[in-house]
Amino acid sequence: MIKNVVVVGSGVMGRGIAYVAAVGGYNVQMVDINPAALESANTEINKIFDKGIERGKISVADAEAAQQRLTYVTDLSTAATQADLVIEAVPEKIEIKKNVFETIDEHAPVHCYFATNTSTMSPTEIGSYTNRPSQVIAMHFFNPVQKMPLVEIVRGLETSDETAQKIKEVAENMGKETVVINEFPGFVTSRISAMVGNEAFYMLQEGVGTPEEIDKAIKLGLNYPMGPFELVDLVGLDARLNNLNYLHETLGEKYRPCPLLVKYVKAGRLGRKSGQGVYDYTNKREKQPN
Ligand code: NAD
Repeated sequence: MIKNVVVVGSGVMGRGIAYVAAVGGYNVQMVDINPAALESANTEINKIFDKGIERGKISVADAEAAQQRLTYVTDLSTAATQADLVIEAVPEKIEIKKNVFETIDEHAPVHCYFATNTSTMSPTEIGSYTNRPSQVIAMHFFNPVQKMPLVEIVRGLETSDETAQKIKEVAENMGKETVVINEFPGFVTSRISAMVGNEAFYMLQEGVGTPEEIDKAIKLGLNYPMGPFELVDLVGLDARLNNLNYLHETLGEKYRPCPLLVKYVKAGRLGRKSGQGVYDYTNKREKQPN
């Protein structure tokens, strides 16, 4: 029975995962090596609760109960000793993830399941850093976690049926729809999204249209909720480039990152978080093309 969930990494994704887990009834320990990140996560999570109450999505009593189930700590080894499930949401760097999985494998109870929120990496490889690969799986949430309905559950080579079933139940308790798929680089969503986003950069580089025109064409012509440039500014151009580099390495030439995307990242245009990406967000209420 899963009751205690540890979420590792309190960044963009970890804080959303901690929120949906607490609302789903789990006791949640949010862990980060950076105390400032934890403090900011605490503030942001409280804002999500406030908005939820304001919009009638959650009652005051349920929000208060969920907030009481949430704690913020810096020591992963101690947090792991109480865990039934650990969900990892640290940066998309294999050496950081390896370190986290080795630590939790050492300290978590033998029954504990491990999930990674990686966008592209191999749950099989991540499972191999532990002595319990049958209990390791990817639980791919989407940004912003509290709004996006899907969790893409990705089985590694050694993942057991029982693990896949348990994790599906947990995701459903968090109010999510699921798909359970087998591992292949980029899963379903990251591979398609990276491809569409990269193609949009090629169009911009070729002078096919302005960012607004390309975004508008994709939104109104293909019925996408966001244009590819609006989306990449939200996700982060550096994160998108990381994903493409990984897909290029593992799946080949058609995923080679567009040189214009590489140039933007070199210039520090990382998207909304840096104030400028494909669009400019500095001192302006509305996005502006560069
Ligand atoms: P982020 O950079 O916003 O947050 C990562 C957090 O992890 C930071 O607060 C950092 O201090 C913390 N951290 C680093 N090393 C740590 C360690 N050893 N122990 C504990 N905490 C540590 O990253 P993010 O955007 O939330 O991405 C996290 C993961 O989720 C990545 O694997 C990413 O690919 C994946 N993902 C991201 C998105 C997205 O839209 N941002 C969507 C789906 C999946």
